Amino acid sequence: MFGNVVLEIPKLAFDEVFEKKKKQKKAKLDTELDARALKEVIKEYKKVVKKHVGRDFPQDPREQLIMARDAVFRSWRNQRAQTYRRINNIDDMLGTAVNVQAMVFGNLGATSGTGVGFTRNPAIGSKEFYGEFLMNAQGEDVMAGIRTPVPILELQKIMPEVYKQLREITTRLEKHYRDMQDFEFTIQNGKLYMLQTRNGKRTGLAAVRVAIQMVEEGLITKEEAIFRVEPNQLYDFLVPRLDEKKVKIEVLATGLPASPGAAVGQIVFTVDEAVEKAGHGGKGNPLILVRAETTPEDIHGMEVAVGILTSGGGMTSHAAVVTRGMGKCCVAGAGEIEVNEKAREMRAKGQVFRQGDWISLDGTTGRVIKGKLNTLDAKPDDSELMKFMGWAEPFRKLGVRANADIPRDAIQARAFGAEGIGLCRTEHMFFAEDRIPYMRAMILTDNEKDRRGALKKLLPMQRADFIGLFRVMDGLPVTIRLLDPPLHEFLPKREELMVEIAVLEARNPRSPRSKKLKGLLRRVEELHEFNPMLGHRGCRLGITYPEITEMQARAIFEAAVIVAKEGVTPHAEVMIPLTATLKEMAHQGGIVRRVAEEVFKEKGAKVHYMVGTMIELPRAALIADEIAKEAEFFSFGTNDLTQTTFGFSRDDVNKVLPTYLAEGIIKQDPFAVIDREGVGELVRIGIERGRKTRPNLEVGICGEHGGDPSSVEFCHAVGMDYVACSPFRVLTARLAAAQAGASDRLKAESGRTK
Ligand code: PEP
Ligand code: MG
Repeated sequence: MFGNVVLEIPKLAFDEVFEKKKKQKKAKLDTELDARALKEVIKEYKKVVKKHVGRDFPQDPREQLIMARDAVFRSWRNQRAQTYRRINNIDDMLGTAVNVQAMVFGNLGATSGTGVGFTRNPAIGSKEFYGEFLMNAQGEDVMAGIRTPVPILELQKIMPEVYKQLREITTRLEKHYRDMQDFEFTIQNGKLYMLQTRNGKRTGLAAVRVAIQMVEEGLITKEEAIFRVEPNQLYDFLVPRLDEKKVKIEVLATGLPASPGAAVGQIVFTVDEAVEKAGHGGKGNPLILVRAETTPEDIHGMEVAVGILTSGGGMTSHAAVVTRGMGKCCVAGAGEIEVNEKAREMRAKGQVFRQGDWISLDGTTGRVIKGKLNTLDAKPDDSELMKFMGWAEPFRKLGVRANADIPRDAIQARAFGAEGIGLCRTEHMFFAEDRIPYMRAMILTDNEKDRRGALKKLLPMQRADFIGLFRVMDGLPVTIRLLDPPLHEFLPKREELMVEIAVLEARNPRSPRSKKLKGLLRRVEELHEFNPMLGHRGCRLGITYPEITEMQARAIFEAAVIVAKEGVTPHAEVMIPLTATLKEMAHQGGIVRRVAEEVFKEKGAKVHYMVGTMIELPRAALIADEIAKEAEFFSFGTNDLTQTTFGFSRDDVNKVLPTYLAEGIIKQDPFAVIDREGVGELVRIGIERGRKTRPNLEVGICGEHGGDPSSVEFCHAVGMDYVACSPFRVLTARLAAAQAGASDRLKAESGRTK
């Protein structure tokens, strides 16, 4: 261990020696090697050390102690620690401490042992003494998985007195720290020693349950309880989980909880076999793709698998990032598993698993479990979750809306507690296969007459969508953004068209289809933009083609009048995208208000509505007082505002970001967590200036940041009215907002008592 941890010699170099000796002596277990054999091993170990570090193993205890101490300090800077800090947003400057303790031995014979445990179940939160131990072993033996540890309840039979004392001590520790404890202990010749205790890490499910139990036990207050759950952990309630009741679980390895949820399936080792086994339409048995690591070429296999397991890689590895995007369960970096892709086998805990064997993954805790467990569907109506949210909600001042474009997502969002729609991206309504041709026709045409023709076809579809949204959100605001397509998202790719034409013409130089495509290519080239994100998009589109704004406004108000006649209360908030000047706002707002009046007159009915804008450009934030003369509300589009403030491309930032993060040039991905100093300052200025003109200006956010807990706290602090995020982040945003509100109150109270 010293050789590995302090001298940084690969563990394998020592393991090889040990395994060789075991083979030679025909020993199955490590403990079967006698003293003579162990002395021989030590001799070999010393040679390994000499070979790797060019010096003898230090024999002076003082020198060993100094080296061990320095190794702990050094560990602060190792790759694993750096990655962990980045993921958990821990300051690099904190540094670590070193404790020096007298050593106790758990491997002195049959009355010695060692173990780890939790005062409550960290996976499902039940109130049970939870953990495992090994007799005649040291701590690393429990972790290494060479011998299978025994459930901690068994200790009661083996050493009842020690067990009783362990229960007493850990119960006291939990009371003292007022939180669930994760502890380590060693028994040396029948005497119990506590090695360590700390607040235990837990899943979202366990966090909610433990918080509720502790309130009911009188250990903590409700106000404290709401801080015992990380807002992001609520995501656990939205993904399936393993049914662990009434089954014996054998954990094969614990890797990184790369993407939450559960997956149960048959092992497959190669991507092509995964695709083949999944069959057309993915009708085969569920598959778990097991790899050393994944690469971008593996995507098609990852798509057909229900879960991904990798022995290498970290929280930001390809497998982790891609699966999180896919909403698919993934355990990464499960180093205790050996994957041999060629032989189509995986080894874990001394067992061999082949293609077709069943395993279960828990992406929330990182556990890899032998066999086929059942899964439980997500149930956001979980009564414990509801109870917990019921305690949190009264502290929340910020509203929480969802970003949703279609009624199905809106229904989902309401189920999670969304209080309206904060962003309906109308262009997304046209991504569906049967609609995109009309959208393309509208964009591609070069004359107003044809454009009006295409718009006429789009109008009823758009109106039907709005009717659906208004019905789902009856009585709640529905913020509808007028068309904002960076055109490249809707056009066929220029290069792909060129290739298609070339292929067609090689076959038939006079191909009629090729002729048609050439016409299309010409128009695509005319519309081609060097920087489509800074191009003909946002309100610029509605200003150059006012008929688009007219059609959309008509669809909105006709839909609103129709549902109002059904008894539904529509609250349309029509939003003009990407404005930078008052005149743009006035131009587009003018069209919307005119069409509203026309529709109301035609239909003989009026509905309530507002016209506002997105603040997505630094200029808009700076002249917010001007823009607020015409805009009745602001919604900060912090995706574009981050893009335009940093000058980072939203689509290509990944070329720069990893280096920037590794070098510490920026601390976090500014597209995920709001950059308070720059973008945040523009937001603050925008709100202040906007409300100077219009004190009751409604202000929200609809960029991705609206679902990030730390950004939600910021939005609360700068006095926004609401945040909007994707439906699956609504719960997270609600809790983050409640925590922000509760923090304010706690601060105010502590101010008064001082
Ligand atoms: C934004 O820019 O923050 C926004 C919400 O709009 P989009 O992501 O559609 O550009
Ligand atoms: Mg935008």
